[in-house]
Amino acid sequence: MTDFCQGRAWIELDRAALRHNVEQLQKRLPPGGALMPAVKANAYGHGAVLIAKELNTFGVDAFCVASVFEGIELRQNGVLGEILILGYTHPRYVPFLNQYRLTQTILDYSYALELNACGQTINVHIKIDTGMHRLGERFENRKELQQIFAYDQLRVTGAYTHLYADDLSLPADRAVALEQSRAFYQTVKRMKELGHPIPKVHVLASGGLLHCPDIGGDYARPGIALYGQMSTKEEWSKVKHELRPVLSLKARIALVKDLHRGEGAGYGHQFKAEQDTRIAVASIGYADGLPRSLSNGVGTVLVHGHIAPIVGRICMDQTLLDITDIPAVMPGDIAVFIGKSGSQEITACDIAEQAGTISNEVLSRLGGRLERVLV
Ligand SMILES: *Cc1c(COP(=O)(O)O)cnc(C)c1O
Repeated sequence: MTDFCQGRAWIELDRAALRHNVEQLQKRLPPGGALMPAVKANAYGHGAVLIAKELNTFGVDAFCVASVFEGIELRQNGVLGEILILGYTHPRYVPFLNQYRLTQTILDYSYALELNACGQTINVHIKIDTGMHRLGERFENRKELQQIFAYDQLRVTGAYTHLYADDLSLPADRAVALEQSRAFYQTVKRMKELGHPIPKVHVLASGGLLHCPDIGGDYARPGIALYGQMSTKEEWSKVKHELRPVLSLKARIALVKDLHRGEGAGYGHQFKAEQDTRIAVASIGYADGLPRSLSNGVGTVLVHGHIAPIVGRICMDQTLLDITDIPAVMPGDIAVFIGKSGSQEITACDIAEQAGTISNEVLSRLGGRLERVLV
């Protein structure tokens, strides 16, 4: 296996896979449409600066983030193009929006009022709530929506909504999504008829772009699909022929140890060797984002193309593997927690299923201590 990194634990980002996913998703855009990838939460753990700069080289020039400081980090590292903040920004930070050329989401009518009172002109996209009932001004509130255009410090450069259905490959969920998009486009149309220009409108995230691209829009905001995953194994199985996982998670094996039958290992000796057992200590733990719920054989790892169960409790910085049946494992060898080894593969969805969550959570929690390399 090529040694891309000399660290104890690291993330490899597959540049070719990222480009492939960009192309696959771009194919689904309407004419004139563009990607505005979600690079929030450190690009779902992948590394926001690395990913956004790489996307810039592919010609992607719009991004969305969750917070003003995520936006500032991208700008300070030379990321070009539009950056939309999807969430709350304290009015005190309005000067940063100007300084770093960030576009702020208008979360609802009263938030517009507050930002307008800051006395600095900023670019905004209006979030319209068409049923998710999270952020956004309700689409029914025409007067409030109209009033936002009257605020002279808010330059409205776009409007968007977000779909709430779980799995848009299912017809029932698609029907709900269509209803939401209809409410959105009608609201946009009415505001345009009242003389308010809205240059960019957008609706679709990963599921929408993959399964109901006809909803269209000037931008689409894919996150998880761009990284070559879906939230669950079931959703992934429907699109895995089209997308390629970008991220691999690897750790160095610090040492190999032989346990005699009857000996225990790790905190609380939760692992007990029922026979002579060889274990490897991998240099990664829950502080790196490895879910602790994978302890005691729930999770598996790949070593030299073989499957090695995680044994005992996962520690903050170390994880024990049973390598009894895997020949010739040496200190310094690599254990693959997410990614391919030989003919085997572990995806973020596999880990999510074992940990009782979705891949988005597993990926976005991958820690700051991991080195990240583009390969
Ligand atoms: C996170 C987020 C996205 C991206 O969602 P995926 O399902 O990962 O594609 C898009 N839009 C909004 C508003 C989001 O919060």
